[in-house]
Amino acid sequence: MQYDTIIIGAGLSGLAAGIRLAYYDQKVCLLERHTTIGGLNSFYRLRHRDYDVGLHAVTNYAEKGDRSKPLNKLLRQLRLSWDDFALCPQIESSVVFPDCTLRMTNDFELLRSQVAECFPDQADGFNRLVQSIDEFNPFADTEGYLSAREHIRKFLTDPLLENMLFCPILFYSSATPNDLDLRQFVIIFRSILQEGFSRPQEGIRRILRVLVKKFRGEGGELKLRTGVNRILEKNGTAYGVELDNGEVLEGKRILSSAGLVETQRLCEKPFVEEKAATGDISFVESISTLDCSPADLGHHGTVVFFSNQTDFCYERPSTPVDLRSGIICSPNNYQFEEPLEDNKINITALADHQYWLNIDDEEQYQQAKQEHATAMIENAIGIVPDFQNHIIDQDIFTPRTIKKFTGHLNGAVYGSPTKQLSGTTPLDNLYLCGTDQGFLGIIGAMLSGISMANAHCLK
Ligand SMILES: Cc1cc2nc3c(=O)[nH]c(=O)nc-3n(C[C@H](O)[C@H](O)[C@H](O)COP(=O)(O)OP(=O)(O)OC[C@H]3O[C@@H](n4cnc5c(N)ncnc54)[C@H](O)[C@@H]3O)c2cc1C
Repeated sequence: MQYDTIIIGAGLSGLAAGIRLAYYDQKVCLLERHTTIGGLNSFYRLRHRDYDVGLHAVTNYAEKGDRSKPLNKLLRQLRLSWDDFALCPQIESSVVFPDCTLRMTNDFELLRSQVAECFPDQADGFNRLVQSIDEFNPFADTEGYLSAREHIRKFLTDPLLENMLFCPILFYSSATPNDLDLRQFVIIFRSILQEGFSRPQEGIRRILRVLVKKFRGEGGELKLRTGVNRILEKNGTAYGVELDNGEVLEGKRILSSAGLVETQRLCEKPFVEEKAATGDISFVESISTLDCSPADLGHHGTVVFFSNQTDFCYERPSTPVDLRSGIICSPNNYQFEEPLEDNKINITALADHQYWLNIDDEEQYQQAKQEHATAMIENAIGIVPDFQNHIIDQDIFTPRTIKKFTGHLNGAVYGSPTKQLSGTTPLDNLYLCGTDQGFLGIIGAMLSGISMANAHCLK
């Protein structure tokens, strides 16, 4: 079977790329090893309840009709309407550090006024920083790593404010510890602080359902439970894939969302140094279902990023979970027209992937999950009202879960620290999209799929 493009992975980047290519009449085949779509941002049903794997917030919120915003550009590229995703804006999020809280909504002016109120001597610097971000082109063809911390320090002198701004940005995007590339910092600053958060009432199912329907409607072929075992190449050119069952599919181009090192492992010859290119930032998350809404307990925050110490540390911890900081997300706290069926609070913390991947004994693994999830919840009490007596069900995922269901080595949520912004590989006709191309998150991954499809497969 000869395809125009074979896409490895039916996560958000693969689905978006598939729609784009199928729309332009390409014969496209989307191959997914897992039993369902969505990759890092999927969904499941457990004990009669719906769960989202990864959805805290859809970033890049834009009002309907604001044509200049990335979300609306993305929808146009996918030939979807604003109503298709049915996004409801957040109520209010915050960054909580000892003795200081910064509140934020989808109106950036709230954050600007919060900075002026909490850090009066930094207000001018913050405004100049924002201006520098507004003027910066993160997509310009510049080489080499640019430290975001160095850039920020040209404008801000208070390390507490610096850390409070880095906390949500690192938590929601960074494959590298404690700092990130300025281009990525700018993209994420805009997408989460300036544009903000939203969520469909039905969660990620809504977005995935719309994407699959569109892909199939344009004539794309989706094969679930169909892993790629090997990328076939001849004289430096990729020409097809061998599936886990031994079947061979040929394609003029292969677009892989599996990850940089993960894709390399499908090829005959290595092209990056594996140890350095394998990410190690991962998380444990507890998802608690409650017998009442978080609002009934007095918690109205959508996403709360917190650090128990002023010196925020974002790196692979030396303990199973890092209790110094975390994220508290309440999926109920969006401006929904109707209350959600279930009441949930998710607590997320950085985790040591080696600890979780090395537990062989199933009973021990389950015990460790429970023990550390309880510690994470206890640690968050105070920032969120005590909800422990209201928990009626709980699920917990770890780096092991992420690795098992997405194939990402080390359960690295943000993939490799080495991003391939061009999407090219040493093999002709083999390209990367998604996490390791460099655009992250739900919207970022879709933008990556679209831009790599446009650049390499629609020439
Ligand atoms: C717990 C968690 C919470 C998150 N929360 C948010 C959030 O609130 N907001 C947000 O914007 N982002 C969030 N993210 C990040 C976001 O989910 C990802 O950045 C995005 O989904 C990545 O999409 P992708 O297409 O690049 O990769 P992936 O989702 O990893 O897709 C790759 C796919 O390829 C498949 N695959 C891999 N190897 C093979 C193979 N050999 N053969 C066939 N198939 C293969 C995998 O099974 C997977 O489905 C979260 C992520 C996690 C894990």
